[in-house]
Amino acid sequence: ALWGGPIPVHRDTFYVFGTLVEIEIRGVPKTDARAAATRVGRLLREVHDDWHAWRPGGALSRLNAAIAEGRTTIMVDPRLAAVLHRGQHLSRASGGLFDPAIGRLVALWGFHADTPPTGAPPAPDRIAAVLAERPRMTDLSIEGLAVTSTNPAVQLDLGGFAKGAALDLAAAELRAMGIADAVLNAGGDVHVLGRHAGRRGGRTGGRPWRVAIRDPFMWGAVAAVSLRPGEGLYTSGNYERYFDHDGERFAHIIDPRTGTPVRHIVSVSVLDTDGARADAAATALSVADAGDWARVAAAMAVEAVLIITDQGEIWATEAMRNRLDPQIAATVRVF
Ligand code: ADP
Ligand code: MG
Ligand code: MG
Repeated sequence: ALWGGPIPVHRDTFYVFGTLVEIEIRGVPKTDARAAATRVGRLLREVHDDWHAWRPGGALSRLNAAIAEGRTTIMVDPRLAAVLHRGQHLSRASGGLFDPAIGRLVALWGFHADTPPTGAPPAPDRIAAVLAERPRMTDLSIEGLAVTSTNPAVQLDLGGFAKGAALDLAAAELRAMGIADAVLNAGGDVHVLGRHAGRRGGRTGGRPWRVAIRDPFMWGAVAAVSLRPGEGLYTSGNYERYFDHDGERFAHIIDPRTGTPVRHIVSVSVLDTDGARADAAATALSVADAGDWARVAAAMAVEAVLIITDQGEIWATEAMRNRLDPQIAATVRVF
């Protein structure tokens, strides 16, 4: 019946994870698409509230409070246990450059809030005091639903990979509801199912979904990539959440080794089928020294990476360069 005719398209938006989340579902009857979008919106809201680091009432903020009080073993729900487990694994793979246990540092710099801070950097001795406590994901052990922390300085902040992990859950939910062709866009972190199904209908017909890698220096895109079914593109940016003080810019990605914000990288984009891994890798690579990029990407098992430095240089892995339009591919340097 769809042959030759326009296919049904349903779009919806939610405000969650501090950003606008857009969903587009193609090729299924309007009522089914609307029901699926509503379910995804509810799931994302629930996950957001549960994984929020500091707002009282959520599962993670309760866990953080318990750890700070020195209680060592706390029971959590299966979804939180799974994401913590994943975070621990990804943190280990990154060599600690991605470390969701550094919530105290995030808070110290004032990024522990829905709006970026406006004040001054924290005093160096306060940073040193947190570093001396050495909060690390390796201080946690997760056995089933029991989370044990051996370090009361651990404060969990899942912001470095929460959107990726949440989009993985949303995509699984859509698939379970029989949605084949859809896109989820959470403020520039994008995950696709199937293809941009076109007029001649049929599921997964049409062209691939295309997404833009934003230009961090001006309005527009540096490149566009076609995503294959099940892939996502996750960008860690130092150009959205930051504050300026005395002519210096301080952004929200923190180097766990120094306790201070990363400076030389303005954005890292990772293309992968696994959102949690890609999002965590984008954060880790924002922190890594240029000489370590290839090693960190390999250790985290991501292949397609694009990095923009504060000098405006664009670096990419071979796998990413192969996905770019030829004119842009010619301008990137390969690492
Ligand atoms: P974006 O918000 O642009 O997607 P990220 O995915 O890198 O960027 O997430 C940044 C957030 O991750 C910060 O706001 C903070 O909550 C958390 N974070 C900061 N530094 C680290 C780090 N080294 N490891 C893990 N999480 C971090
Ligand atoms: Mg992110
Ligand atoms: Mg990230």
